[in-house]
Amino acid sequence: MLTNVEGVILSTTPFGETSKIINVFTKEYGVIGIMCKGAMGIKSKLRSVTQNLTFGTFNIYYKKDKLSTLVSVDIINPLKRIKEDILLISYASYLSDLVYQVLKQSNDEEIYNDYINAILKLEEGLNPVVITNILEVKLLDYLGVGLNLTSCIMCGNKKEIVTLSSEKGGLICKNCYTMERIVPISIVKVLNMYYLVDIKSVSKLALKDDVINEINRFLTSYYDDYTGLYLKSKDFLKTIQKL
Ligand SMILES: [Zn+2]
Repeated sequence: MLTNVEGVILSTTPFGETSKIINVFTKEYGVIGIMCKGAMGIKSKLRSVTQNLTFGTFNIYYKKDKLSTLVSVDIINPLKRIKEDILLISYASYLSDLVYQVLKQSNDEEIYNDYINAILKLEEGLNPVVITNILEVKLLDYLGVGLNLTSCIMCGNKKEIVTLSSEKGGLICKNCYTMERIVPISIVKVLNMYYLVDIKSVSKLALKDDVINEINRFLTSYYDDYTGLYLKSKDFLKTIQKL
């Protein structure tokens, strides 16, 4: 069936001498494999539009549960800012790796919208740490380890919360506190905002650096301890962020 799908190329694999297979996260069908015949050829029209992070409308012969075949691509947004900035490429690669893993566990269509909106916010120039963290918070539900930000993770107490512990995986009240690191409780509000906000509507970010960093630190270790995911692209970001 000849059809158009909107999507982003998550990864590419050479095939034979001049062809390649691209993995595209599509709005319509989730992640699909598409054969791009001759796309590695110097003169191929498909060469430049079959690279990682190409965001466009893919005209394909769609085959369910098999490799589809690419006819052409219309670019929706060239993502120029991201592609010219090695740091932004690193963030975008991590987000792509992350959604790819999440899609193995859930195929909710909101994942596509959240992912594409996060990529577009990176392209707009918003703080990549914040955008990454917002997507990370939202994806936790699909990974089955959503955050409880309303009561003590140990006893359920809603009052006298003293800290948020990545080790324990949530809020800790005064009675259950042992030796957990104390973080400013104001970050819980911000985390809640990350969880609820529509990424599309995020524009100005009036957040202090220490709040941003504290949340990033929490989410990074929460992901390490509770999601079971290991991503090389995340390791690279940790090195950059000195976590
Ligand atoms: Zn408690």
